[in-house]
Amino acid sequence: MKIAENKVALIDYTLTDNEGEMIDSSEGAGPLAYLHGAGNIVEGLEEALIGKEAGDKVKASIEPEKAYGERHEDMKQDVPKELFGGVENIEVGMQFQSETDEGPVLVTVVAISDEMVTVDGNHPLAGVHLNFDVTVREVREPTEEELEHGHVHGEGGHQH
Ligand code: ZN
Repeated sequence: MKIAENKVALIDYTLTDNEGEMIDSSEGAGPLAYLHGAGNIVEGLEEALIGKEAGDKVKASIEPEKAYGERHEDMKQDVPKELFGGVENIEVGMQFQSETDEGPVLVTVVAISDEMVTVDGNHPLAGVHLNFDVTVREVREPTEEELEHGHVHGEGGHQH
């Protein structure tokens, strides 16, 4: 069976940036299961996997616009430290939900000074060129429930 719209695929993957730095990998966690066409994985990777079948190895080099988008420097913002009053020991890398006019945005603390905390609303992988090394493990039909939910259940997918 080939990967196509509304098929379930299980993939092993390694993700590196253009410097060869490993960003993520399915090693240890086991294959990732996704529903093709449901936006479970980035657009560029879906495009690279279409038509592939179990056993195929795929290398995909994906521009930010087909992954997590470009970085927007105006999504970086200095916030007075006292606004984090309820949080002890703020550290770089912590993530907070921030309410904005466009709804909740996940922001990451990127710098801390005596009085200010710099938060960044960009996705941590925004502006990053993604290099995927993928092996397709299995391709199957989804269950009706998986189609309804828009994601895969069980191993490598949602547990609920
Ligand atoms: Zn579900």
